[in-house]
Amino acid sequence: MDHSTQMEAARRGVLTKEMAAVAEKERIGTDKLMGLMAEGRAIIPCNRLHSALSPNGLGSMLKTKINVNLGTSRDMTDLEMEFKKVQSAVEMGAEAIMDLSSFGDTRKFRRHLTGNCTAMIGTVPIYDAVVYYNKPLAQITTEEWIDIARMHAEDGVDFMTIHCGINRDTAHKFKKNKRLTNIVSRGGSIIFAWMEMTGKENPFYERFDELLEICRDYDVTLSLGDACRPGCLADATDASQVEELITLGELTKRAWERDVQVMIEGPGHMPLNQIAANMEIEKTLCHGAPFYVLGPIVTDVAPGYDHITSAIGGALAAASGAAFLCYVTPAEHLRLPDVNDVKEGIVAARIAAHAADIAKGVPGAREWDDRMSFARKKLDWEKMFELAIDPEKARRYRAESKPEKEDTCSMCGNFCAVRNMNRILDGEIVSIFDE
Ligand code: SF4
Repeated sequence: MDHSTQMEAARRGVLTKEMAAVAEKERIGTDKLMGLMAEGRAIIPCNRLHSALSPNGLGSMLKTKINVNLGTSRDMTDLEMEFKKVQSAVEMGAEAIMDLSSFGDTRKFRRHLTGNCTAMIGTVPIYDAVVYYNKPLAQITTEEWIDIARMHAEDGVDFMTIHCGINRDTAHKFKKNKRLTNIVSRGGSIIFAWMEMTGKENPFYERFDELLEICRDYDVTLSLGDACRPGCLADATDASQVEELITLGELTKRAWERDVQVMIEGPGHMPLNQIAANMEIEKTLCHGAPFYVLGPIVTDVAPGYDHITSAIGGALAAASGAAFLCYVTPAEHLRLPDVNDVKEGIVAARIAAHAADIAKGVPGAREWDDRMSFARKKLDWEKMFELAIDPEKARRYRAESKPEKEDTCSMCGNFCAVRNMNRILDGEIVSIFDE
């Protein structure tokens, strides 16, 4: 093989089998895709050791992808059950799974995922270090932080979220500019606490070149984590968030010099009127690298409904240039999501992604809606169920409320505008009241 990463291959004009597969899925020419990848504006996270992967691309001009967070926790240690959840998330349309396991034999589960799961696998090695080394945070050494990233790369993960941007300067700025909700990123809070307790520089910032070599060796995509993502509307687009984004832009350039693929993690909580501007700021400061947003959640007052608050923000973010949406479930801010919460979160994220794809004119996006509308016009219920984003729910709702007239639904019955229009245009008499 004469290239280390997909980016290097694109820059050398080598068409990889992953690029060919992504170009076909996206209905985009291979030359166009390779051009975007060479510039870093599109990526294919695909660790060379992830044997089961069905590759997907990320980039603002490609179909918007969604990520689902799963993994073991102190309250959820059954690996088989967790893997079943992963499989059902993939069947429901998740293109990526972030394994956020924080309990038990995390390595065993991670390897099982990369050996068997077709979706991209992402991890946050910072969480895992705390579990793996099983000792107080302040005693973890700089060397050990780097080693844990190497271990995840060896295990075949396609992308790693690493909070490289919160260095001592950013941390200083964060302390000077008081926030309503401080740092809400789990990985960011861990690294911040470690820097405060040890007085040392963020190991991933200090030894960024070493991290790049690891990524290059396995073709791991760096997801540059946003430790200072706003955790409430009041903190959106503040000095800490923007300061960190400037650093992430600098690190992006350094990664690209080594042909390492990069995406940028983004907010967070953000009022609707700031979202489009934030997408532009990211594109400018991070040179067009794909943006991976966590929401954004557009109001802080809807616990229990944050799949909706984030889908509203996610749709606007993706329509304005974000490439990748992290799902949010109704359990956000409240508890670990159960199976139904996961389903609700995935459906909401898929709706947001698809709505954005229609607005962006992504090839094939609108055709889906047109096929649904045609089935509606024909009152072809089986086809409508088949095309529904959640066929099970659509079928169940109709079955729960049977209409008197078979071809209509219980909403309007014999006042069914669709049925009556079809009949009158077919030359039939439409009486309504005595039918
Ligand atoms: S009954 Fe009303 S809601 Fe139902 S299909 Fe006909 S027009 Fe649509």
